[in-house]
Amino acid sequence: TIPLLQVKNLKRQFNVRQLGSRENGVLRAVDDVSLHLEAGESLGIVGESGCGKSTLARLIVGLLEPTDGRILIEGGDIWASGAAGRERRRKFQMVFQNPAGSMNPRRTVGASVSEPLQAKGIRKTAEAVERMLTLVGLDPQMADRKPHQLSGGQQQRASIARALIADPAIVVHDESIASLDISLQAQILNLLLDLQKELGTSYIFISHDLAAVQAISHRVIVMYLGEVVEASDSTVFASRPLHPYSQALRNATLLPDPIHERARGDTLLRGDVPSPINPPVGCRFHTRCPLATDQCRKQKPSLRDTGDGHLVACHFAGSSSQTQVVSEGVA
Ligand code: SF4
Ligand code: MG
Repeated sequence: TIPLLQVKNLKRQFNVRQLGSRENGVLRAVDDVSLHLEAGESLGIVGESGCGKSTLARLIVGLLEPTDGRILIEGGDIWASGAAGRERRRKFQMVFQNPAGSMNPRRTVGASVSEPLQAKGIRKTAEAVERMLTLVGLDPQMADRKPHQLSGGQQQRASIARALIADPAIVVHDESIASLDISLQAQILNLLLDLQKELGTSYIFISHDLAAVQAISHRVIVMYLGEVVEASDSTVFASRPLHPYSQALRNATLLPDPIHERARGDTLLRGDVPSPINPPVGCRFHTRCPLATDQCRKQKPSLRDTGDGHLVACHFAGSSSQTQVVSEGVA
């Protein structure tokens, strides 16, 4: 059978003027990414800021056109011309980090929540709005309020209601819980899991928060500088991430609390993510990898299957020499 979503060799480049230079450079924000997602499943995509996650999210939902590659839903291209492509792009919805900013402050919550139905040409939306608000745990009377009269958690529930109201096949969450406090994050994650059981919607979670992504995803993808460096079943990934970058991300989340708090803010690893305009040659992670060798500085590792669909782009992934060095401490 055909997967619900197939992303094939997706690329998105931006022409940019490099900082402090008059030359134009090419920023390869998403560089040859392939992935798939089944109906009713969740896929987590993790990585630090600047790894191309948000660009990938906007490409997948059709807010941004790819430079190259394809996005297929139920086997059909979302950029097919005319009504066919438009219909396919409507099967996606997106929930953003800042719920207040994604709702029109002048319109009522109910009007905002009903937008996807109106886009489909449905006029009578009051009942559906009421049902959806109830489903996400809000008092249906909130439909008459303005977004600023809701708390942050209520606003995020309303934006989830809006995302789900027109029965999308896939909802992409770009850091959708990052601005909420920890207890609210747990509530919203549980709500999303319940809604998935009830409605069968597929989710893509884009986040720098590995723990949250693992908790809710069937499969996890790790991105670094526009590329997928690891893809795995999430339980396998939780116990045994194989790429040194994934291992460093995980170690950062295991640190004790004061540092943990800092780690949440995207400064998970020593040093910054290098510029994606001129990414390091060979393995793009070599400038920060404690295991880097001369081979890594010259030769780009390909994404290979280490068994059971656990994909890793590292010359040494799974080898015993890697395990030894990593146990001496990566982060
Ligand atoms: Fe590190 Fe080399 Fe593996 Fe890249 S290929 S992650 S530099 S060990
Ligand atoms: Mg982002």
